[in-house]
Amino acid sequence: MKYLAFTCVCLSVAMAASSQETKLQIAGSEIDVVFGSPVSDGLRELVLDRIKLSAKAIVNYYRRYPVQRVQIDVSPYFGRGVSGGHASGWDGPRIRISVGKESTAADFAEDWVTTHEMVHLAFPSQEDRHHWIEEGQAVYIEPVARARIGELTPEKVWGDMVRDMPQGQPAPGDRGLDYTHTWGRTYWGGAIFCLLADVQIRERTHNQKGLEDALRVVLSEGNIESEWPLDRAIAVGDKATGVPVLHDLYEQMKATPITVDLDGLWKRLGVKKLNGQVVFDDSAPLAAVRRAITAR
Ligand SMILES: [Zn+2]
Repeated sequence: MKYLAFTCVCLSVAMAASSQETKLQIAGSEIDVVFGSPVSDGLRELVLDRIKLSAKAIVNYYRRYPVQRVQIDVSPYFGRGVSGGHASGWDGPRIRISVGKESTAADFAEDWVTTHEMVHLAFPSQEDRHHWIEEGQAVYIEPVARARIGELTPEKVWGDMVRDMPQGQPAPGDRGLDYTHTWGRTYWGGAIFCLLADVQIRERTHNQKGLEDALRVVLSEGNIESEWPLDRAIAVGDKATGVPVLHDLYEQMKATPITVDLDGLWKRLGVKKLNGQVVFDDSAPLAAVRRAITAR
């Protein structure tokens, strides 16, 4: 999650005073991991391994790490799992995650927060009404990027999308993505936008380009440290793919409650759920598009 307005200088200073710091070098970028309170060597290794794995997925997706240097503040708490992440860029790229002191390797294998926050580093900061494009990208790209390095199976990614994407459909009273700031529309409505963009770019370029091609060029010009109008990111992204998919989708969805035919989309992509299991239909018209999205 990303809260650009959030800051607490006093807390930052206090954390630094009692911190243990580790510097990681990833694809030419530096990740400074700062623990807010002492942790066991075992937990430290698990946290660092998780950060390295998330960074690997991000570098693979974007072909570079999104920022030259980022500080990741790790706040240990009593419990298990990774939670409470945010990312910000106005005071230098920074991510915060909370990590349970009792966490096991299995808890870190299930962690989506670290990768989600790193996706935020890769897109120019937006004004509040476009927050859905920031969260939508993080929600959509996190599992896709992890699948592409083999961390998640395509069955897991598509099965979760079939289960979760309906949360992004407009409810009664919806006024489109720019004017409806509910949790469902911000996170999952934004994710539906990204899924549609990825599929349509691939359809219109004969599967030669995908959403990542648009986002890689955006990232080459600006990351979380820059503030861009959304129109600029859309124009740069569309120019990179050669098709105006982002522009057209944004015009359709920004101020209008569009209910997307997700069941029809899953069918065209060849994703079915049978007895709770995900089954792929490779004879579906967009089966190649589906495979390209989650291929290693
Ligand atoms: Zn987020």
